[in-house]
Amino acid sequence: MTESVDRVSQKVISLVGVTKRYGDVTAAHDVTFDVYAGEFLVLLGPSGCGKSTLLRLLCGLDSVDAGRIERNGTVLSGESVCVPPEARGISLVFQDNALFPHMTVWNNVAFGLANQPKEAVAERVAEMLDLVRLRDVATRYPHELSGGQQQRVALARALAPKPSIVLLDEPFSDLDRSLRIGLREEVRAVLRSTGTAAILVTHDQEEALALGDRIAVQNDGRIEQVATPEALFGNPASRFVAEFIGATDFLAGEIASNGILTEIGALQQETDAPIGTAVEVAVRPDDVTLSPDPAAAATVVSRSFNGMSNVYRIRLPSGAFVHSLQPHTLSLADGTAVRVKVEPGHKLAYFPNHGGSR
Ligand code: ADP
Repeated sequence: MTESVDRVSQKVISLVGVTKRYGDVTAAHDVTFDVYAGEFLVLLGPSGCGKSTLLRLLCGLDSVDAGRIERNGTVLSGESVCVPPEARGISLVFQDNALFPHMTVWNNVAFGLANQPKEAVAERVAEMLDLVRLRDVATRYPHELSGGQQQRVALARALAPKPSIVLLDEPFSDLDRSLRIGLREEVRAVLRSTGTAAILVTHDQEEALALGDRIAVQNDGRIEQVATPEALFGNPASRFVAEFIGATDFLAGEIASNGILTEIGALQQETDAPIGTAVEVAVRPDDVTLSPDPAAAATVVSRSFNGMSNVYRIRLPSGAFVHSLQPHTLSLADGTAVRVKVEPGHKLAYFPNHGGSR
C-alpha cells in the first residue's frame, strides 16, 4: 500500500519488523506500525503478550534483535544502533508514577530540564503545572498528593522537555474506577491540547476503546491488527481480536448461498468463502435478541445485572452458549425457556471453524 507524502512526513515513530527474543521466548515478533503526529495510539493485549517489551525497546532500555525503530526518520534502534534513553526525545509515565519522593512537585517537573536557563525552566514548569491544574500544590511533596494528582505531576514531568512522544505504561490501573475514568479523559485532553503523540499500554479493552485514536492489538509477541476502535470492534481481523474485544461468543455456522446458517437462524450477509465452509461467527450480546416462549429449546442459564442493562447467558440446544443484552426492565428467572435470534443489523465477522464451536 502506498502512503501519501503528507502521511509519511507526519510519522513520529515507526517500528519496522521489530523482533526481540529472551531465550526461547519471542516477546516481540516482527512488529511493524507507525504512530503519527498528535496521535493517541493504544497498545492492547493480555498480560505477557509483549507490551512492556515494546515499551522498553522504544525507550532504549533494551536493544532489538532485528528490525528498527525510527523517530522522525532517524534510526533510534537497529542493527548496531541503540541511542541511549536520554537522547531519544521519548518520555515515559509509569503505572506507579515514579515521582521523586524527596522533591517538591515543582522540582519533579523541572527535573528533565536541568540543562536549560533558570528563567526558561521556571516558565516551562509553570506552564506544565497550569496544564494539569496543579500550580497551587507546586511546593508539596508527592506523598501529600492524591493518586490522581501524582499521575498528573508525572504527566507534567513527562511533557516538560517537549518530547516527540510520551509512552504511558498502564498509568491508570492503580486508581479506583471513578478516578480512573476522570483522569484518563483529562490526560487525553492534555495530550491533545499539546499535540503530543502518545502510546498508552493497557490490557483493558474498555480503556483502549474509550481512548485510542487507533488501537494496536498484540498477541504472543505479534501485532494482530492496528485500526480505529470502531474498525477493530466491527471488523476484527482475527479470532483473537474478536475474542479479546467486546464480550464475544462464537457460534458454529455454515456458509450458504445468501449468508451463514447457524442453529439460531440464517444471517443474511455477503460472504467470501465457498458454500458449505464451516465457520465460527463472532456474536456479541447486542446482536442477540430473545423472547420468553415455553415451547423454545434455549434456556436462560444466568443473568448479570449491570444497572442499566441485563446480560443473559443462554444455553442453546447444541450446548453452545450465547449472551444477550436486554433492558434492565426485563427480568427473567434462570431456567426460563427463550426464543433466541441473531439480529445484528450489520455484518458479523466470521472465521474458519477448525474444531467446532465451544
Ligand atoms: P506484557 O507487558 O504484555 O505483560 P512482557 O513484555 O512483560 O509482556 O513479556 C513478554 C514475554 O517476554 C513474557 O513471556 C515474559 O516472560 C518474557 N520476558 C519479558 N522480559 C524478559 C526478560 N528480561 N527475560 C526473560 N523473559 C522476558
